[in-house]
Amino acid sequence: MSSIGNGGGVGFTPPFATLYYITEMGIRLLPRDVSIKIAAGEVIDRPAAVVKELVENSLDAGATVVSVTIRAGGVEYMSIVDNGSGIVADEVGLAFRRFATSKLVAVNDLESIATLGFRGEALPSIAAVSRVTMVTRTAGEEAGTRIEVADGKTLGKHVDAAAKGTSITVRQLFRSFPARLKFLRTAATEGSRIQALVTRYSLAYPRVRFQLTIDGSLAFSSPGSGSLRETVAAVYRPEVAEAMLELEPDVEEADVEDVGVQAHGMVSPPPVTRPNRSQITLFVNGRWVQSRTLTFAVEDAYRGFLMERRFPLAVVNITMPYEDVDVNVHPSKTDVRFHREGLVFSALQRAIRRTLTAYSPVPSLAPDHHSAPAPASPAHAPNVSFTRAPRRAAGAKAPDAPTTDGAPPVMGADRHAFAQGMAPREVLPALRVLGQAQNTYIAAEGPDGVYLIDQHAAHERVLFDEVTARASTTPAEVQGLMEPVPVDLSPAHRDLVESQREIIEWLGFAIAPFGGSTYLLRGVPAAISAGSPAEGLADVLDAMEEGGGYETWEERAAYSIACHGAIRAGKSLSLQEMTELTRQLEACRQPNTCPHGRPTMVHLSTTQLEREFGRS
Ligand code: ADP
Ligand code: MG
Repeated sequence: MSSIGNGGGVGFTPPFATLYYITEMGIRLLPRDVSIKIAAGEVIDRPAAVVKELVENSLDAGATVVSVTIRAGGVEYMSIVDNGSGIVADEVGLAFRRFATSKLVAVNDLESIATLGFRGEALPSIAAVSRVTMVTRTAGEEAGTRIEVADGKTLGKHVDAAAKGTSITVRQLFRSFPARLKFLRTAATEGSRIQALVTRYSLAYPRVRFQLTIDGSLAFSSPGSGSLRETVAAVYRPEVAEAMLELEPDVEEADVEDVGVQAHGMVSPPPVTRPNRSQITLFVNGRWVQSRTLTFAVEDAYRGFLMERRFPLAVVNITMPYEDVDVNVHPSKTDVRFHREGLVFSALQRAIRRTLTAYSPVPSLAPDHHSAPAPASPAHAPNVSFTRAPRRAAGAKAPDAPTTDGAPPVMGADRHAFAQGMAPREVLPALRVLGQAQNTYIAAEGPDGVYLIDQHAAHERVLFDEVTARASTTPAEVQGLMEPVPVDLSPAHRDLVESQREIIEWLGFAIAPFGGSTYLLRGVPAAISAGSPAEGLADVLDAMEEGGGYETWEERAAYSIACHGAIRAGKSLSLQEMTELTRQLEACRQPNTCPHGRPTMVHLSTTQLEREFGRS
């Protein structure tokens, strides 16, 4: 048929020759540069996708240090520097050719993929939609190579002095893709996606030191010590890392069937929870995966341990024979299929269940920091690290990971509540308020000594719990404003108000567009109604925008509301106000810390007082 042409006469052969387009002249092959861009769009949809592919390449190259630098959400500039194997001068050009990979040799290899990359698509795809400079050197070479590729064309290749490893700089991402550019969110949002990604990889690779610099300041770094607990401390707060329970290896239960499927990593003890599933991070053979089934296995393991609508934190790597998992489902490679899904599900679920059952919190009537056994500090915690999957033959034996004897008794938990299937909580005895010191601390007395309560931190805890304890379907208490307040929103804030409308409303803001950048604020969360409503909204939006990487939008917003609405230090309180605050604090699930993890109170136990005064 004469109407099928070969797209502009560029001499090329399949596999590119698979895309056609229809004109009045009939079906035609797309020009090569167009088809590459379409394919690139599948792999590279936003700056975080570039970072993902390049970080995976660094890890595949055996790097132990990976530094990521971005500016303006990555659109303007991204660089990934590693100390991995590097690429020999002869092959540098080849790396940018589509389907060029050093990782897959034959089709059979597709059945058991050990590396993160294998499709040979990333570099050419990135280079098709940006301007890329790569400088690389292998250990065996005297000098390195610098290559520059823009919009799919090699601009130059030179010998250049270079450290061993590879550095890749990506500029002008999507410059020739205005549609893609428009689709991107604000720089801060794209930046926080990148941060979430880098932190995830750091958890999967505790031996690798990651660094992320955003707009000139260090946003995240992991120690690279090989200890998962230390890495968790870098990603979350140190208290969370201390509290996490290490999964116990499957020793007795290993029956013949599930040989080779093992779950390694850490999960939160029941008192440490999150309002959603976003902190359940799962890897399969070191690859981050998104799997409803596996996420559900985690949740299911906690059944009876957590209250409704609370979710655990988990960082778990499931190792299994490479041939049992298909990672070639989607170009992004985060979607995986298991040949024996039921087995993987139950291996994960059992490992967590076993760990939770073994965890028996130390009952304690009062939170006494000094008499309670010290929680395992990161420095002394066993060095847990993920291992890559053994080939099936080697997978039979459980790895000799140290067992978690004496799970850290971080929270003095109430065993009774625990047994009833409730999340245990730190129990604060009924306190009698004595007075206020420095207009900042509430002095109170309990059955075992004296307490000094930080009024701001305590109130923050109360407000934070009020916001987050509410189920997502329960609307917040909105404090209607007598007169609607017009507020002018920055583009970033507007973006948030539109895209996170549900959360904003759930928090208790009533806001509607009023033309252009102006919005009408009709109500604010009751917790912050005392101050300036517009300022309260701006603070909350700022906090959401900030992108702490691992916290959810809701949590960041809740922190901000709590901080904004909490009584300041320096404010004098009546006895009644202090008593009320103390009562509210007693009802909190974790009364001993503010939502940021700082202590809300200092406790001087009777024993301590007696010792100090030489009475005992
Ligand atoms: P894939 O990772 O699927 O093989 P890529 O396009 O991402 O495909 O990379 C192509 C090839 O370039 C890789 O197979 C590898 O040989 C080489 N390469 C890319 N990045 C690096 C790096 N940071 N260090 C060493 N080699 C690299
Ligand atoms: Mg790759």
